[in-house]
Amino acid sequence: MNRRDFLKLGVGMGVGFAGSKLISSNNSSALLDKVIVEFYTGHSSNTYYFDSQNSHIELPILAEDLSCDVCVVGGGLTGVSTALKLAERGYKVVLLEAQNIAGQASGMNGGQVLTAYECGMEYFEDKFGDKIAKQLWSLSLQAIDIVKSNIKNYNINCSWQSGTGIAAYKEKHFAALQEEYAIMTEKYGYTQVELYDKPQTRTLIGSDQYYGLLYDRFSGHIHPLNYALGLSQICKQKAQMFTKSRVTEIKFNQAGVHHLTINGKHQVKAKFVVLACNYQNSLFAPELAYKVVKFDTYVMATESLSPSLAHEILPNRMAVFDSRNIMNYYRLTEQNNLIFGGGDTFGKPDVPQVQKSLYNDLINTFPQLAGVKVKNFWYGADSMTLNLAPNFGRLYDTVYYAQGYSGQGLALSNLAGQIIADAIIGQSEKFDIFAAIKPLEITNIGVIQQAFVKMGSYYFRMKDYFE
Ligand SMILES: Cc1cc2nc3c(=O)[nH]c(=O)nc-3n(C[C@H](O)[C@H](O)[C@H](O)COP(=O)(O)OP(=O)(O)OC[C@H]3O[C@@H](n4cnc5c(N)ncnc54)[C@H](O)[C@@H]3O)c2cc1C
Repeated sequence: MNRRDFLKLGVGMGVGFAGSKLISSNNSSALLDKVIVEFYTGHSSNTYYFDSQNSHIELPILAEDLSCDVCVVGGGLTGVSTALKLAERGYKVVLLEAQNIAGQASGMNGGQVLTAYECGMEYFEDKFGDKIAKQLWSLSLQAIDIVKSNIKNYNINCSWQSGTGIAAYKEKHFAALQEEYAIMTEKYGYTQVELYDKPQTRTLIGSDQYYGLLYDRFSGHIHPLNYALGLSQICKQKAQMFTKSRVTEIKFNQAGVHHLTINGKHQVKAKFVVLACNYQNSLFAPELAYKVVKFDTYVMATESLSPSLAHEILPNRMAVFDSRNIMNYYRLTEQNNLIFGGGDTFGKPDVPQVQKSLYNDLINTFPQLAGVKVKNFWYGADSMTLNLAPNFGRLYDTVYYAQGYSGQGLALSNLAGQIIADAIIGQSEKFDIFAAIKPLEITNIGVIQQAFVKMGSYYFRMKDYFE
């Protein structure tokens, strides 16, 4: 099933643009005004996760010149997992984070640790054939295994809860879920999924909104900040990590050592460089801007629900996302706060409008939550490719990057760290499978790129509305 198939962009975009205002709704704004406890915007220090984090990580600012085997730029999960895997194998690793470790997407996301890829497996089947598609499928399961084994081996307290589900938002989406179920079970031999019809779904999600559910018991959800901080605490013992240490320039040297400048002052010399800056990688390699686009996605956290209300809305405590192109995603925390996200935007957002519309979605999904207080609202940026497949590559033999997880990076960033580390060590088979997936490229002229993608998102909103 292709959920956000940008390849089908085209004729509908203009219609979508013109009609988009039809679907924004203000009918819940009065209620929203009453239930907001604190109105927060985008800043990562104002998320539910920041309020409930169970550890803090103290790291220095780089204040000297250093040399190392591998310099990792970016302290999200891609960077931390790469640094950890290499340091564990004896490499001298320096990790440089511009702001705070896991202060961006990795520490503020929806917490869903998901199977497969945003583009759907048939994209890989069509492009590369069944053999490679099956390898990519098993790598996606490996991504989840890495998260689970990190939690276990490093004893990370991040509230793992098994189970995620794709909920059919329209009747015909259920037919697509049936098809996906058949492909997963028959073609990929996956035994961890169940398909539920409308009445069965109603017993698993306390909402009348859905026509069916594809439930996956192998995937799950976590407190992403606690996970990322837990992993970073281990990494800190083995690699040199620095915060508030922004890489301001990199002089790549094809045949020798790379030179990085930090905060405009200090130098790090490295034999290998790993770019793990998500949508900001292109600052160091402009050609990467053609491969991904930045989007923002929005999240609310309610106050802690009573046990009976929590049980009424999600009795088996799975995480859910729906089958639309611009979807909602939600889950309960261990303390029964509902984390409810969605409303992806491209370009400069109208944040109050998105907040209203997200709250409207929340109440439409769970009318029984009207009056429940919303304690946090935040948004963050991630990168996506136009084919919705992740984008891994090398700039030179000794410069690696991974980006464009397209909203599914919580598991995939861990896999990226593992396979970039393997490739640097000399085992690049898995990395090369990903590197062979070429994204659809788009102009890197910011204004044109944003206009194109924005039109695309209007188009998909319209598709969700009318189809
Ligand atoms: C609100 C939200 C909800 C999401 N929900 C989910 C979900 O439920 N499930 C899922 O699978 N995925 C989800 N995602 C996506 C997922 O969080 C990301 O794909 C993943 O965390 C990307 O990890 P990363 O390490 O590559 O990037 P990031 O976490 O963005 O880290 C990049 C780091 O690089 C640093 N950096 C940038 N420039 C420099 C520089 N010049 N020098 C040094 N450091 C620099 C940044 O400060 C940042 O810390 C969500 C994303 C968001 C924003």
